[in-house]
Amino acid sequence: MRTIKYIAIHCTASHQSQTIESLRQEFIRKGWTNPGYHYVVSPDGKITQLLEEEKVSNGVKGFNSVSINVAYIGGIDINGKPIDNRTEEQKQSLRSLLKLLHNKYPTAVIQGHRDFSPDLNHDGRITSNEYIKACPCFDAKAEYANI
Ligand SMILES: [Zn+2]
Repeated sequence: MRTIKYIAIHCTASHQSQTIESLRQEFIRKGWTNPGYHYVVSPDGKITQLLEEEKVSNGVKGFNSVSINVAYIGGIDINGKPIDNRTEEQKQSLRSLLKLLHNKYPTAVIQGHRDFSPDLNHDGRITSNEYIKACPCFDAKAEYANI
């Protein structure tokens, strides 16, 4: 098994109606051999595994070889703007999935995609003006700090 340093949280940056199948098609259209995420959580709370954990998915550029990528379906509003629109079911499933993964990889840091952005002013914090993207549209680091 590869070394897992990060459990990276994403949104699919799509409408909540997006299906697992259309997500798979999107990755194929991009020409990716492996999907963008290992796990995807649907609005009804269903967790789908897209890839075995020992394989590398395409979630965070530069960090994929040491990461497990987890996404919830959603993350944009009707105008395509970033929004945290996780359903209660998604929140619950995300939390239980992250607990399982963290038990398996206790030293892995749980953080959002945006937390991989460069700390431009070197103040030790990644702030909104430094985000390379909004994904996953909530403060995953803070929300899952107690896992
Ligand atoms: Zn992302």
